[in-house]
Amino acid sequence: MLEDADFIKSCDVPGPTKEAIRAIILYKSDVNETDKVVDVGCGTGGITCEFAQRAKEVISIDINPEAIEITQKNLKKFGLGDNVTLINGDGADALENVDEIDIAIVGGSGKKLEDILELIDSKLNSKGRIIVTAILVDTKVEAVNKLKELNYNPSIMEVNISKGRVLDRGIMMMSENPIAIISAKKR
Ligand code: SAH
Repeated sequence: MLEDADFIKSCDVPGPTKEAIRAIILYKSDVNETDKVVDVGCGTGGITCEFAQRAKEVISIDINPEAIEITQKNLKKFGLGDNVTLINGDGADALENVDEIDIAIVGGSGKKLEDILELIDSKLNSKGRIIVTAILVDTKVEAVNKLKELNYNPSIMEVNISKGRVLDRGIMMMSENPIAIISAKKR
């Protein structure tokens, strides 16, 4: 796993998704070296960089040009990127030109989550996996409901990680952002 502190960050781009969350996403995705992965809303590239090391191909999309620049810089920093295509655009448009997806991660969608999930569903291979990360309660509900409507059986996991800061007096646990990981498999 890459370390959070090693990522290049920007105040205008959210991320990276924390290491422990990335680890759960990797495990839930069941990624292997033949998989084609899309990362919709790649932000700083936290998820992209992990999948680039484990999948055959990664297509990373973000509506914010600065996110694409930072993802590119992080890939370079970690010596990755040969199997990664970066697309600056709205996921709801960019996905039109992508097919045969094995794993789709949705880390950002604006108000387009339903459209994005529909598109992913239409492009997902049999046995494909969809993972949505959501911070807003509304996004969690929307993701679960849309996946149900598309005939998936989604699971939702709320993750609260606290990390210890070692002080002279003892160890202080500092909580990180709670986030939900919603995952589903094509059946
Ligand atoms: N997983 C990322 C963080 C994602 S933050 C990491 O580890 O760094 C969410 C991102 O989604 C933001 O960069 C935002 O620009 C992007 N986003 C929001 N709506 C989008 C859309 N409709 N299409 C593509 N990207 C979108």
